Amino acid sequence: MRIDIVSLFPSMFSGPFDDSIIRRAKDNGILDIHILNPRDFSFDRHKHVDDSPFGGGSGMVLKPEPMFRAIRFLMDTTSCERRRVILTSPDGEVFSQQKAKELAVFDQLVFICGHYEGFDARIEELADEVVSIGDYVLTGGELPTMVMVDAIARMLPGVLGSEESAPTDSFYHGLLEYPQYTRPRDYHGRVVPEVLFSGDHAKIAAWRRREALRLTFERRPDLLEKAELTEDDRALLQELKTQQKSSR
Ligand code: SAM
Repeated sequence: MRIDIVSLFPSMFSGPFDDSIIRRAKDNGILDIHILNPRDFSFDRHKHVDDSPFGGGSGMVLKPEPMFRAIRFLMDTTSCERRRVILTSPDGEVFSQQKAKELAVFDQLVFICGHYEGFDARIEELADEVVSIGDYVLTGGELPTMVMVDAIARMLPGVLGSEESAPTDSFYHGLLEYPQYTRPRDYHGRVVPEVLFSGDHAKIAAWRRREALRLTFERRPDLLEKAELTEDDRALLQELKTQQKSSR
């Protein structure tokens, strides 16, 4: 997958994309990441990319010309069959695991990072969609882009090794992940659940499903509304609800 990031601060991306799983994906040719600075597309004498907002108000707003030219350049110089342009903004659709899966099928993703007070509203025309990473305001679109690229990369075939698996992760199937344990078996009296040593895969899978449901019920009950649940899952949730009521 080709990823183009349009950002006024390219150096912010060195580090997060140069280690661990993302680095490996780049080295293996699965991810091809390019960063373009809209300042290079500002043709005024002082290379201005921002200006004060019409109508007054504080802060600076990203000007349309450098951004339109940068995106036009990308369209003219890259040719990927399935391309999606994403504008980072707090007023966009909130990013999710589902969104990561949807975006992972494209051949090219272009991320536009705003900064300062935001961008001229006409820049939105350049994007296929506007995406937020949550209901809070960050200083720029760089961190949201890093978050999204990381989550999308995990969905690409070959990015995770066999020892790292996305389908058991939280959210992938609509629930939080079950608790994980490793050595030692007994850590100062905190003992790992016995079932995990039983060697009985069906029993272990049933325990993990129950624990995933219990955690989701306790911490993110909103997720249960959309999760695919079996009859057994529903019976367990009923039990948990009854326990909750009686402990009040
Ligand atoms: N004035 C804008 C508002 O109130 O919505 C906020 C601008 S913010 C300081 C600057 C840039 O950071 C935005 O244009 C966007 O690119 C990025 N940004 C900030 N918070 C974000 C979020 N939660 N999700 C995605 N992008 C965000």
